[in-house]
Amino acid sequence: MTTVDLPLTAKDFKSDQEVRWCPGCGDYIVLNTVQAFLPKLGLRPENIVFVSGIGCSSRFPYYLNTYGMHSIHGRAPAIATGLAVSRPDLSVWVVTGDGDALSIGGNHLIHALRRNVNIKILLFNNRIYGLTKGQYSPTSEPGKITKSTPAGSLDTPFNPLSLAIGAEASFVARALDSDKAGLTEVLTAAAKHRGSALIEIYQNCPVFNDGAFDGLKGSDRIIPLRAGEPITFGGLRVVSSGFAGLAVSDAGEPVVHDPSIEDTSYAFALTRLGDQRLSRVPTGIFRQVDRPTYDDEARAQVDRARSGQSPSLQAVLTGKDT
Ligand code: SF4
Ligand code: MG
Repeated sequence: MTTVDLPLTAKDFKSDQEVRWCPGCGDYIVLNTVQAFLPKLGLRPENIVFVSGIGCSSRFPYYLNTYGMHSIHGRAPAIATGLAVSRPDLSVWVVTGDGDALSIGGNHLIHALRRNVNIKILLFNNRIYGLTKGQYSPTSEPGKITKSTPAGSLDTPFNPLSLAIGAEASFVARALDSDKAGLTEVLTAAAKHRGSALIEIYQNCPVFNDGAFDGLKGSDRIIPLRAGEPITFGGLRVVSSGFAGLAVSDAGEPVVHDPSIEDTSYAFALTRLGDQRLSRVPTGIFRQVDRPTYDDEARAQVDRARSGQSPSLQAVLTGKDT
């Protein structure tokens, strides 16, 4: 990593490594957006860390002039957790894909989210395994024909945002690779959020799953979520449909979006407005609530133990004060 003087620009966050993704890959746009966003953190590059797992998107740390680690398949959240707990002065980010995060690393992802570790997770969802040349992934749609499912996938895919909210994630958002403004907006909010943030990024893989998100470009299938504003799109509106339910309608009072609602039912219902065929997709921040972070609580426990305020291990084992 080269050191640079403040104030910083996007150029200061570009490394000297040759970027090796296929021509036209959506990862390029996301990389450019992240490099343009990083100066807004107001941090020096040496106070920012990107940890990745395995996959095409996991090459990300090579291309940033920050600290970084291209780690173990699916285990980036575990490594990032250790870093966040031991180094509260760092801004810790995870870069992962749909296979890395939801298959090999599914367990690590959900536990990082439920613990509310202060890490920001960018989940590049291209609905395919790209690096290993085109096998179906945990987000591939039913019937998907790939090299590993020549007769069509039989699996029900994950909805990553429903999964995250089921794991009590305190910040959940979605953006498109091609929407620089929308992605920058959620990156900025995620960076300010204290706790785990999951951002799903729909990312085109022109080689093995080309055009998976083409139907969303410039279309009225996008349901934009903006805090404090009625949820409307393409002449339709999102309305309340009974107990914590939401529906799309051409009549009725639109729901005013409030990502700070504590009850997970509302944000969960928002994630269910989309479907596997991507006939409509909400984007923006679904949920953003405050709750204690694992790293703050863990450090407080250590401080209490050091200052003698915690019971000794012997007292716990014997049930007696020593
Ligand atoms: Fe991008 Fe797909 Fe190539 Fe991987 S295989 S670099 S995701 S285009
Ligand atoms: Mg993938």
